[in-house]
Amino acid sequence: MRRARASLLGVAAFAAVGAAQPAPDIIVPVEGIRPSELIDSWNKSRAEGRLHRAIDIPAPQGTPVLAAMDGRIEKLFASKRGGLTIYQRSADGRLILYYAHMKGYRRGLAEGQKVMRGQVIGTVGASGNADPAVPHLHFQILETAPGSGWQDGEPVNPYPLLTTRRPRG
Ligand SMILES: [Zn+2]
Repeated sequence: MRRARASLLGVAAFAAVGAAQPAPDIIVPVEGIRPSELIDSWNKSRAEGRLHRAIDIPAPQGTPVLAAMDGRIEKLFASKRGGLTIYQRSADGRLILYYAHMKGYRRGLAEGQKVMRGQVIGTVGASGNADPAVPHLHFQILETAPGSGWQDGEPVNPYPLLTTRRPRG
């Protein structure tokens, strides 16, 4: 676990100083939103003294939600807080990507399916405990170990990973 964290953050730092090592290949998971439009909402206070360990990406209801990375759908889950959610594992197994407050899943989406970065997996909504007036995607990245459970992992701030400029090959 400790080693996984060091390597991911190390990769991001490398990319920031322009070294050859690429950052994780990740995109903003809402169609039409550029990295420069994102607002860092990591650690903002929430109800019950909880800290916000994710990024909120506001967009109109029904805006396509995209897979942020290549990987596999681990779990489709409905919860009181998160509403309609998706847990996706990255192709290398080291990250869990969590998408919440969705309006709907892409038709035919199922646990175990492989998804490619940029593929539509659902739509933005305000399900769960989201403010109905402010539909948004709640997007979380958890560092984990290959083979661990779909809910296991340590949250890392998605903002620097989504906004770090890196060369595209
Ligand atoms: Zn949120």
